[in-house]
Amino acid sequence: MSGHNLNADFAEIQKFSDLAHHWWDETSEFAPLHRINPLRLDWIDRHAQIAGKNVLDIGCGGGILSESMAVRGAYVTGIDLSEEALTVARLHLLETGREVSYLQISAEEHAAARPAFYDVVTCMEMLEHVPDPASIVRSAATLVKPGGQVFFSTLNRNRKAWLFAIMAAERILKLLPRGTHEYSRFLKPSELARFCRDAGLQVEEIIGLTYNPLTRLYALSSDTDVNYLIRTRRTA
Ligand code: SAH
Repeated sequence: MSGHNLNADFAEIQKFSDLAHHWWDETSEFAPLHRINPLRLDWIDRHAQIAGKNVLDIGCGGGILSESMAVRGAYVTGIDLSEEALTVARLHLLETGREVSYLQISAEEHAAARPAFYDVVTCMEMLEHVPDPASIVRSAATLVKPGGQVFFSTLNRNRKAWLFAIMAAERILKLLPRGTHEYSRFLKPSELARFCRDAGLQVEEIIGLTYNPLTRLYALSSDTDVNYLIRTRRTA
C-alpha cells in the first residue's frame, strides 16, 4: 500500500481499526451490519447467482458480507485498508473454516493489478468514508468483467437522512458510536448513479433499506431516503 495519493481518510480507517476486535460481536457497534447482512446477501445472490463466481468485496472490514458470500459458494476476495479489520477477518476464518482471500490494498491499486478479473463486485457501507467515492466506483468498474454486476450501498444526503442516520442512530438510539458518519460524505442516489454511468456502469436498480425502531427490524423497501443500495452492470 503506497502512502501518498491514496484515496483514503486515515482518521476514518482508524475508527474501524479501533473497534475491530468487536467485529463479530453481534451485540456491538457492528450489530447493524450483522442485522442487515442477510437482506443484502439475498438481494445480491438473487441477482448475481454468486455460487462458483469470482467476487470482490471492497471495504470488506471484518468480513461479515465476504464470509457470507463464501458460504453461498462464491470465491471471495476481500480488500480493505484497515490492518486490524483484516486481522480479525482472517482469524475468524480459522474459527469457521471458511475460505476468503483478504488483501490490504486500495481499490485503485487492485484495479491496476486485476482489470476485468471479477464476475461480481460488492462495496457496502464504504463510499461514505472515502474522500473521492467516484474513484472507488471507477475502480469497481475496472475490476469487474464486461457484463458483470457491481453492487453498492451507502447513505442518502437530505434532512431525513441526517435525522435518522446521525441524530437517531448515533445520539438517540445509540445504534452506532457518535462520529461514525459524516453528513457531508453522504451521497444522493442521483450522484452515485452519475458516478456509475460515468464509469461505464449501467444502473439497473436502486432500492431502499429501512429500519423500524419499534419492531427493531430492517427491511428492503422502496424508501431510499436514508439507506439505499444500487445494482449496476458493466456495459459489455
Ligand atoms: N463492507 C463491510 C464493512 C463496512 S465498514 C460491511 O458492510 O459489512 C467500512 C469499511 O470501509 C471499514 O472496514 C473501513 O476500514 C473501510 N474503508 C474506509 N475507507 C477505506 C478506503 N479508502 N479503502 C478501503 N477501505 C476503506
